[in-house]
Amino acid sequence: MDMGLSSKTALVTGSARGIGKAIAMELAREGVHVLVNGRGVDEVERTVRELKAAFPATSPRNAAADLTDAEQRAALFERFPQVDILVNNAGIYEIMRYEDVNDDVWDRYFQTNVLAANALCQFYLPAMLKQGQGRIMFIASEEAVMPSGLMPQYAMTKSMLLSLSRSLSKLTAGTDVTVNTIMPGPTLSENVQQIIEGMYPDESMTFADKETAFMAASLPQSELRRFIRPAEIGRLAAFVGSPYASAFKGSPIRMDGGMVPTIY
Ligand code: NAD
Repeated sequence: MDMGLSSKTALVTGSARGIGKAIAMELAREGVHVLVNGRGVDEVERTVRELKAAFPATSPRNAAADLTDAEQRAALFERFPQVDILVNNAGIYEIMRYEDVNDDVWDRYFQTNVLAANALCQFYLPAMLKQGQGRIMFIASEEAVMPSGLMPQYAMTKSMLLSLSRSLSKLTAGTDVTVNTIMPGPTLSENVQQIIEGMYPDESMTFADKETAFMAASLPQSELRRFIRPAEIGRLAAFVGSPYASAFKGSPIRMDGGMVPTIY
């Protein structure tokens, strides 16, 4: 399916690796010029080169910046003043005991997962509204609506994104600008793969064995019984970014392998 995205420009935050990189790849497959972001200039450059090699008709650019740093954000806005699609994917997560979540931790999570994304919306949304077209996505998590209790500092920030997305969507009434939230369930980014490898050091086990063991022991509610692949989220994001997805307005869009019990 041609998603009608050819020659659009997209900023995907945290796209040097993981889910963000997969979103960048799937957008580039549709002919989108992707602004690749991450904190490390070299890591971002490697992804830019990979995108260019895979999709030579597109012009990926290095948009490295620490998005929690206001000066680096301002420099980014100066270099890239306009985008058609903004994917707020960058985020941090780790398992933490509630008693260890002090004010500094809350602050770091709020700055990274919420305020940085909000600052990007504040900058890019007005131009989208002015031209009556644009797409903004937040990458939240099933933790936004189903906190496991294993990472309260993270779940809070992902719930906030749902609320922010809904508020911003109200501003888009009557335009072809959309603001939506994708809620992936457990997804096999490199980071998650490393965590699983660390949990099962037994060298006689293949990764598939480890994945099956982990899903059965830790995520029995998953109906998918495997991790979601980043490209699956990437493909969904490309669709939500496309002209065919105009009717998604302020929607929480679940791709969680059946993790979240449905509330009708
Ligand atoms: P990851 O750690 O592999 O990648 C996150 C990216 O964000 C990295 O490239 C990192 O450099 C970047 N980033 C972090 N802070 C940044 C900052 N201040 N400025 C710029 N870039 C920054 O993570 P992932 O597993 O690919 O997850 C991506 C997103 O999807 C996150 O928001 C995460 O919360 C969400 N998510 C992940 C899963 C999962 O199971 N992997 C499930 C649900 C939601």
